[in-house]
Amino acid sequence: MADFFSSPIDLRKKASPVISIYGDVGHSLTRMIWELIPGYDVTISNPATPEALYEEAYDSAMVFVVVGSATDENLEIANKLSSINGVVADIIAITPEPDIRKRLHILAAKFDAIYNLDILSTQDFVQIFHHKLKKGIMRLHARLQEDEYTAFLGFLSVSADAFIVFDQQKRIFYVSEHYLRLYPRSREIFVRGTPVQRVFDSISREMGVGQHDPRYQAALQFWSTLKGQFEFMLDSGTHLRMTAVELPHKQGTIVSTTNITTYKNQEFALEKQQQELERALAAEQEAGLLQKQFISMVSHEFRTPLAIIDGNAQLIQRMKCSMPEEEMTKRLKTIRAAVSRTVNMMEAVLSSNLLKTGKLDLNREDFDFANLVTELCEEQRNLARGHNIQTEISMTSPVVNMDKKFITIILTNLLSNAVKFTDSENGVVQVTVSNTSRELIVKVKDNGIGIPEDEIDNIFMKFYRATTSSGIAGSGVGLSLVKELTHLHKGRISVKSKLGEGALFTLNIPQDFPLEQGAANR
Ligand code: ADP
Repeated sequence: MADFFSSPIDLRKKASPVISIYGDVGHSLTRMIWELIPGYDVTISNPATPEALYEEAYDSAMVFVVVGSATDENLEIANKLSSINGVVADIIAITPEPDIRKRLHILAAKFDAIYNLDILSTQDFVQIFHHKLKKGIMRLHARLQEDEYTAFLGFLSVSADAFIVFDQQKRIFYVSEHYLRLYPRSREIFVRGTPVQRVFDSISREMGVGQHDPRYQAALQFWSTLKGQFEFMLDSGTHLRMTAVELPHKQGTIVSTTNITTYKNQEFALEKQQQELERALAAEQEAGLLQKQFISMVSHEFRTPLAIIDGNAQLIQRMKCSMPEEEMTKRLKTIRAAVSRTVNMMEAVLSSNLLKTGKLDLNREDFDFANLVTELCEEQRNLARGHNIQTEISMTSPVVNMDKKFITIILTNLLSNAVKFTDSENGVVQVTVSNTSRELIVKVKDNGIGIPEDEIDNIFMKFYRATTSSGIAGSGVGLSLVKELTHLHKGRISVKSKLGEGALFTLNIPQDFPLEQGAANR
């Protein structure tokens, strides 16, 4: 085990092993050994007290105790040294007394060797010394590695992450407890020597990740190369991140698994928040844009009533007292009606959601549709003077439930266009209103200049004006507003026209009508 593993961190407390010599009063042994150690990475120490000796013995490659007599103290030293856990040095007693040696042998078998230097030849001692020192250094080294290994595994086991250590052959060398808890059903394969492929198969099975699961390929890639990082989510909702780190000197690979669920959840929450902010911002921008568009369209609608007011006021100014009272009353009534229409329109805009959301919403009410068409045609007659505006209304019931202000805008636009794009002398505008059980149908037909065929599709686009409209006042927003307001009623608007042959606009608005009731014909 220790041969396999050397940790990347040097945990050794001391730089080089020690030869401990205790009780060498005249330093003769110390001097002798001093002569023998050049070439070795060792130091010599002469601890002054038994306690100091016990302390350093753990890091010693050899321990010499010079024994003058077989006293209790010397026996105690041998006992104590051998009972210190992890001491790897040979404990060697040096004594000149044969009978002490005998006594030591019997009483303190804990000494690994007992030498009398007086009778042992120097050559023999040198040989024995080298042999034992080499062994001591080796054992010390191995013990240090083992210590490091134990400490390292200790670190791994207290870490919050789960670990598997693979050896060079990609076989399990170590699995942390966390792993066994993470995959309890794969417990029996989490043993030293299991090849990585079996680990992968077992974990995938335990997770219920089959070959067709999108997570499988990513996991396979990771486990087969044991490189990099990959994240996946267990069916329980737990997010795990696996990281493979190569150990130094090609000793193998550590695969750590970290539970990143909290982090992931925070990441998701942040992302969601970000998206919501972006959505809110986009909605805000869109609302602003729509607002501007509608305001520009709606303000165009003020032109018709203002034209009526202006026209009538001019007439009154011109004729002054010569205007018959009846006529004057009629003109003033028209002016007041136009003013109230303007006010109504302003209210419609202000009371709708337009300013808040940029969108118009319907305010439905019951009203007499036939009456409204009649009034608006009359209004156009006043403005147009000269056009023949005919109405034909055939409805099973004149009452509809729609947004009266918006319907007024739709009809006014269709009527004023019909008048505007038709020559006043022979101009005929025919307005037909009818219904089926499901919808209201309004047709506005004129015999005016018509629309070039290749331009028909464009006329409902905002600001689009056909080439034929040059020289005729307008802004190109009326029909786009008509289309918008018709769609708001879930209706349709269409046009048929030929250049020079007038135009026919048809408006269909869904509405349930009682077919049995008497027709309201005008
Ligand atoms: P404007 O009337 O201000 O030009 P509109 O959006 O109401 O804007 O109409 C767009 C264009 O459609 C007009 O410029 C015109 O070319 C064409 N158009 C609309 N109604 C008629 C019609 N009755 N006869 C001929 N052309 C029409």
